Amino acid sequence: MCNFQNIIGHEQNIEHLEKAIAEGMVSHAYIFNGEEGIGKMTVAKAFAKALLCEQKNSCGHCQSCIQIDSMNHPDVIYVTHEKSVITVDDIRDQVNHTIAVKPYSSEYKIYIIDEADKMNVMAQNALLKTIEEPPEYAVIILLADNKDTFLETIRSRCIQLNFGPLKEEQVRDYIRKHYGENNSKEDLAAAYSMGNIGKAIKVMESQEFEEMKNRCLNMLAHIKEWNIHEIVLYLKQMDDYKDRVFEFLDIITIFYRDILILKVTGLPNKTVFKDKYSLMRKQSVYLSFEGIDRIIKEVEKAKVRLNANVNFDVTLELLLFAMKENGTKW
Ligand SMILES: [Zn+2]
Repeated sequence: MCNFQNIIGHEQNIEHLEKAIAEGMVSHAYIFNGEEGIGKMTVAKAFAKALLCEQKNSCGHCQSCIQIDSMNHPDVIYVTHEKSVITVDDIRDQVNHTIAVKPYSSEYKIYIIDEADKMNVMAQNALLKTIEEPPEYAVIILLADNKDTFLETIRSRCIQLNFGPLKEEQVRDYIRKHYGENNSKEDLAAAYSMGNIGKAIKVMESQEFEEMKNRCLNMLAHIKEWNIHEIVLYLKQMDDYKDRVFEFLDIITIFYRDILILKVTGLPNKTVFKDKYSLMRKQSVYLSFEGIDRIIKEVEKAKVRLNANVNFDVTLELLLFAMKENGTKW
């Protein structure tokens, strides 16, 4: 299962952690910073395994390794929360009140706090007390999308490791390793993921993603001929996909980038949606370079609007009408 040797990417962070273990310089507190799905939890688990393995080599078959793989090692605590905020009670109950209890079976007691940037200020202050004077055996790992939300007093006491996107080839390696060679979804997963393994996995495995993608492609095939009534009807159905709207927008972008590639090179093997060749080929004839460029910019604009909390229906309506216009006039 997960150990440092079979993680793809994040080489520098892994090297740092391995060195800390080898030199006996493991810190009491870490911040793993990077976007959701990038691999922070995978590295955190591998770190726990490396720290706790009875053979000291993440063997994978000692009791400790087996317990970590099945997520029930008594000395690895996953701090959970129910609401969109990690409250002071979450930190007190799950960290501060348990940390004084010595590890059951190992040298270390490891706390992994996922989405730690959701701690409110009171929760952070409660955690700070523990981080300031941790027991010798404690290792606290904060996983965060955005470390800027931490108090400076927390940040300054943690070793901070940043998790950036993987190279496209690394994502492809991962897909081939886990889903086999020549998987028909590989191109989309690699393009859509932008170096994020979590996103690649979504493309490979999520049925909902697949349905949303098909609906999106159906719209892209017909938007030019649709009248206002049909667009409004489509948008009504899109309400079910509200929480997937950014995925929807990314698919639109990939599709139009494909058209651009076809227009420039004429080569379908360079595109992501190879199975939509005839559709894209048609559109690449009547869409101008400027028209494609405008559509891609409109998609970016829609993302900005959504991030600024502009109404979902209004944003998508504006986008679809702009796409229709670009498809007919230019
Ligand atoms: Zn082991």
